[in-house]
Amino acid sequence: FQKVVLSREITGVPVAQDFAIEAMARPEIAEGELLVKNAFLSLDPYIGSRLKGRHMSGPAPKIGELIPGLAVGEVLESRAAGFAPGDHVVGESGWRTHCVMDAAAAQKVDAAIQPLSLHLGVCGMPGLTAWASAHHLAKVREGDRVLVSSATGPVGGTVGQLARIKGATKVVGLAGSDTKCRTVEREYGFDLCINYKDADWTDQLAAALPDGITVYHDNVGGDVLDAALANLADYGRVILCGLISQYNLPEGERPAGPNPGVYILKRAQLSGLVVYDYMAEQADYAARAFEWIESGDLRYVEDRAEGLAATPELFAKLMHGDNVGKTVVALGNG
Ligand code: NDP
Repeated sequence: FQKVVLSREITGVPVAQDFAIEAMARPEIAEGELLVKNAFLSLDPYIGSRLKGRHMSGPAPKIGELIPGLAVGEVLESRAAGFAPGDHVVGESGWRTHCVMDAAAAQKVDAAIQPLSLHLGVCGMPGLTAWASAHHLAKVREGDRVLVSSATGPVGGTVGQLARIKGATKVVGLAGSDTKCRTVEREYGFDLCINYKDADWTDQLAAALPDGITVYHDNVGGDVLDAALANLADYGRVILCGLISQYNLPEGERPAGPNPGVYILKRAQLSGLVVYDYMAEQADYAARAFEWIESGDLRYVEDRAEGLAATPELFAKLMHGDNVGKTVVALGNG
């Protein structure tokens, strides 16, 4: 029984030394609760914002408190109707080997979907985010020319593949290294991926989509959003999903933002995306995504570490943008 806690105030981009591993007692459960043995912990970009008190999911932990986060695991004990030992659930656990979960907020998942880490990635919250974007908000259809930023990640990589499934003519990704771009092209099957750190990347973008972008899924904000908007086709649809380029900026620092005039000029449609609005679809989406995985239409990449003690380093890797794919910690139970 172990947990990861905040060891000091985080000022800049989080590093491993901001966290400490501590032993914990076997938790006791009350009526309506579950004792869960975690199989995988999910490390997500929003946790960086949460640690600074800048995320809608809740307040920042104080020094010595548990780090929040989703996990998938097996129910060991249940004092809640509808849940039994042996069931598998996803829920808010925090970074720990075992947790007490409020059954009302726990989501039972199909253990036939394996590896269980899929419930945290392409079949879980990031995948559902991609589905909300491509299916509900952008309504990708035949003929669309789609651009996706952070294309190696579980959200971006899945958006591009779902766009392809829904008939997009061209799918282009943006990522931060040549190695990541190769993953996006070879694993996820995008037509092209452009390294936005190349000096001439905006020229490459204009050349790749000469007739303009009809759908842009934005995970990053800032200059990348600006460049995508400059290449938007008239009546283009823009899905604003994440602002990862700004999550670790110092408090009060004003980021470079897009010029709103471009929305008018392009007659653009913008949609903000909050995945929590789509949670009722999670189980149906997971089943469909797993069918696509089995048929080879949907592929995923994981950046995995083994054991709770590896969590701080892996999180720092994610926060520095060095992860490739969905970041998960395997706890040896899945
Ligand atoms: P990713 O793996 O895509 O996120 C990490 C990647 O972000 C990095 O590898 C890096 O890739 C990129 N990145 C760009 N700028 C920075 C920066 N300044 N610092 C660190 N990394 C950077 O994670 P996800 O697929 O899980 O999430 C993608 C986005 O979707 C995030 O912004 C997330 O917050 C958002 N999201 C929004 C939801 C909603 O409801 N609106 C729900 C779920 C996720 P590269 O090198 O290619 O730049």
